[in-house]
This record gives sequence, C-alpha cells and structure tokens, in this order.
Amino acid sequence: MATHTPIKQVIIVGGGTAGWLAANHLGKNLAPSSPDGVKVTLIESPDIPTIGVGEGTVPLMRQSLKALGISETEFIRECDVTFKQGIKFVDWLHNPIANNPHYYHHIFDYPQIEPVDLTPFWLDNNQGRSYVDTIAWQGKVCDAGLAPKLITSPEYQGQSAYAYHLDAGKFSALLTKNAVERFGVNHILANVVEVKQHENGDIASVVTDRNGELSADLFIDCTGFSAKLIGDVLNVPFIDKSDVLFADHAVVMQVPYQSEDQAIASHTISTAQQSGWIWDIGLQTRKGVGHVYSSNHTSHEQAEHALRTYIGKQAESIGSRVIKMNIGYREKFWHNNCVALGLSQGFVEPLEATGLLVFDATAKMLAEQFPTTTTEIPLIAKLFNQRMSESWEKVIDFIKLHYCISKRDDSQFWLDNRELSSIPDSLQERLARWKFQPPSKYDFFSGFEIFNLENYLYVLYGMEYPTASSLVRGKVVQAAQIEELHRWIANNTEQALTRLPKHRELIEKIKQFG
Ligand code: FAD
Repeated sequence: MATHTPIKQVIIVGGGTAGWLAANHLGKNLAPSSPDGVKVTLIESPDIPTIGVGEGTVPLMRQSLKALGISETEFIRECDVTFKQGIKFVDWLHNPIANNPHYYHHIFDYPQIEPVDLTPFWLDNNQGRSYVDTIAWQGKVCDAGLAPKLITSPEYQGQSAYAYHLDAGKFSALLTKNAVERFGVNHILANVVEVKQHENGDIASVVTDRNGELSADLFIDCTGFSAKLIGDVLNVPFIDKSDVLFADHAVVMQVPYQSEDQAIASHTISTAQQSGWIWDIGLQTRKGVGHVYSSNHTSHEQAEHALRTYIGKQAESIGSRVIKMNIGYREKFWHNNCVALGLSQGFVEPLEATGLLVFDATAKMLAEQFPTTTTEIPLIAKLFNQRMSESWEKVIDFIKLHYCISKRDDSQFWLDNRELSSIPDSLQERLARWKFQPPSKYDFFSGFEIFNLENYLYVLYGMEYPTASSLVRGKVVQAAQIEELHRWIANNTEQALTRLPKHRELIEKIKQFG
C-alpha cells in the first residue's frame, strides 16, 4: 500500500456493543454518507453470538448517548434500562456475618472536596459514620430505592449523577439502528473466513462467506475474545494479567421478577464470595445475576452452587451459562492498519463496569484522532497505544485495590489477593503513601485515568483504609464551614428523600409517557 494513501474506507469486523459503539462514533465524526466522508462498513457474523452480558455502565455513558443523538426516553424504553446510582459492596471488607456493614462505591454523587474537603475531618473524628454518608447524600437515596431524577427532569439530567443498567443485546440493536439510519454506516451480515495482507503486513481485505471480498484502508477488530484480526492474523501478543486479577470465569443467570411491582434497586449490588463476587443488577423485566470467580480457587460446580444459593429457590428452574474471560490486554492496540476495540483489545472482570467505559472512550478517541492518510498512522498509533496501555494499567490497579485492602481471610482467594507479588508496584507505592496522607489531586495528574481521586476516596475509606489521621495536614478547617457543609448535605438528603419517586415508578412513567 502506498504510504500517502488517503483513508476513505474503514471496515469494522464484529457487531457486539464494541463494534456498534465504534460504528456510531466513527459514523458521527467521519460522515460516511457525504461524498467527501469516509465510508464505514460493519461486518457482523449471523452465526457467532455476541457475548450478551455487560449490564452496568458509568455516568459518562450519558454524554456519549446524548452526543450520538440518541433520546434517553427511547433508550430507556428499548433497552430494558434502569437507573444506576452507584455500586453497593457487601461482605468485601470482613468475613461474612449477619449485619456486616456494606459500603457504596462509587456513589456517582462525588465527594465534597471543594472548597472544604471533609476527608481529613472524617478521618479524625467520624464517630462511626460511614464515609459515603458523611460526604454525599446519594447513598441514602439508594437505600430508599428512589430514582435519581423526576419525571419532569430534562433528558440526561438528574438531581445527581447517574448511569444505567441495560440489556446488552437490546443496546446493540439500538446502536445498530442509530449507526445505520443516522450516520449511514453500511451493515453487512456475513462471516469473515479469510484475511488477506499486503507485503508490509497491513490488512488488505477480508473475505466473507456471503458477500465476497471487501477491502479497506483501516480495519477495526471488534470480534470479541476471539480477536480474529489483531490476534490470529497480526499476532499481537496478549499480556495476561490473571496473576494480579484472579477471576477468570463468570457463571451468569437471568432471574425473572416474582411480581410486576417488585422494587428495583437503583444501584448494582456486588456481594463478595469466597472465590470472587456476585453481581446483582435489576433491569425492567428481569435481574441479571452472575458469579465472577477464580477457577484456580474454586470449581465451576462450586461457583454455580454459590450463585444458586445466592438467588435462592427461584434458581431451581433457571438455566445458567459459563463464560471464560481473558484477563489482560494487548501489547499494542493499534498495529499496522488495524485497531483492536472491545474484548479483542482487553478485559478485566466487570467489578466497576469498565468494559463499555473503556471501549466507548477508545472509540471516541479513535474517531476524534482519525488519520486522513496512511502517513499519519504511525504517529497517531504510537500515542493511541501509549494512552491505552496507561488506561488498562490504571484500571487494573483500581480493581485490585478492592481485593488487596480487604480484611477477609476466610479463603485462599482472599489471602492470595494480599500477597505483595500480586499487587502492581504502582498500587503498592500509592498505598504506602496513603498511609500518611489521603489521596489528592497530585496522585492523578495524567488526565487520562479512567478512575480518579473521587473513586479512590470512596473505595479506600469505604474499606476503612488506615490513613494516619494524626499526620494529616489541612484538617484544621473552620468549624463553621464544616457545620455549614453538614447542614447542606443533610438538607439535600431530606429534600431528595421527600421529592424523588420510587425507582420502578419512574421507569413505568417514562415507558408510558416519556
Ligand atoms: P462480542 O459481544 O463478543 O462481539 C463480537 C462480535 O464479533 C459478534 O458480533 C460476532 O458475531 C463477531 N464476530 C466474531 N468473529 C467473526 C467473524 N469471523 N466474522 C464476522 N463477525 C465475527 N461491560 C460493562 O461495561 N459493564 C458490565 O457490567 C459488564 N459485564 C460483563 C460481564 C462479563 C462476564 C463479561 C465477559 C463482560 C462484561 N462486560 C461488561 C463487557 C461487555 O460485555 C463487553 O464490553 C461488550 O459486550 C463488548 O463486547 P465485544 O463487542 O467486544 O464482543
């Protein structure tokens, strides 16, 4: 391929959430239907199913959906959507006993740290009050089963920040419609059976079983864990991180509600188990429940048994599905003229709903930095690869944090998670520093961390991380200011608890009246 070739055609292989997010972002930025635009084609196998899980998101999803022109009402109606205001962690800190305290992380209403940071004050004198309830009011809203907004609130705006729970299959269908109808993305249903390369290793074309051979200037690999282009053809190595994050399988079930008016939690519930944890997500019509576990610490049968025990009698009539997860990321995400996006690029267990977050961010970055000619590819690819590696490393640190500061010692899984050899140096350094001072903005200077100061504050202090309060500077703030802040949080809590509707009630209204 000549080096100065203008990039006029892009082919995305794979039609899971990652493929369709990429198609939307590229479609929006590259105007495929205009004469000067870049033609975007998505090839999707009619035979290979998508992974079909991925029900939790983070608040950034609101920005993306809005930017892609999708109406929130339509999204809620079509994708079995409910609201998510945070994650409630149960039994993560101590061995399970009745009435163990739980903590919320992260409530999407971020901690109050400007102009007065309550963290040093809380460290010094919290009188048994949880961190989250000291610095934010959304935990109480979750406890009360309330929605984050009113029926009169404008689309994508709430009384506080929120994200969604969704049905991944239905979400792909909505993204498909949007990409094809709004942005003119070409959709082909076929299996890619062969990949042809130029002499320099670039991909020249893909051969399909029912649409012949299709060539393009740039290819996006969204083929899921199978990584057909970046792995099978270009042989970019996968950096395995299962020595840090041990969970490598999930057993999943879909649980119907027992009655039409059963309450729906407006947060994800994550309950720690002896060899992993269980997610519990309420959609409109059913719950998605899954046990993420380490197959080196338990058997598949035991893992399924733990899930069925969690669900209770109802589980007797429900089938399950086991998913093997590749934990880690590619050595490069952009190699030659191929970009890996989605599970082909990397994955870590879904504890903080990082999948869609990272893939959406990658698709956006690719669309915004899209090269005009092949000459630019090496320059853009270098930066892209650096940024993506940093992102994955930071995500891994953050997920590991939940395990390595736990005090559980009731199984080998929890003990192994505290072995220093399994904790990345970067996280060890931070944890050592945070024994003497709480995290601050100076810990998060790269501007490209997926999880930031607020996220760390919630997890660290939700899990009672022992920062020595006697050494913390800056806690001598005006008592009056603290009093004022407490009053502000208390007032907001009271107002929210009075005004906000029950979660299911709001969802039903949106479905009926929009
Ligand atoms: P897939 O869904 O696997 O799609 C692959 C696509 O490639 C399919 O369309 C397939 O047909 C196509 N394909 C494959 N081979 C070929 C071929 N030869 N020719 C043509 N097409 C081909 N993310 C979150 O954000 N939140 C969560 O709560 C969450 N939970 C998860 C739980 C588990 C257990 C797992 C495993 C993942 C979870 N994720 C979550 C991640 C989320 O599921 C994925 O990020 C998301 O679905 C993207 O998947 P994908 O599109 O990369 O791959």
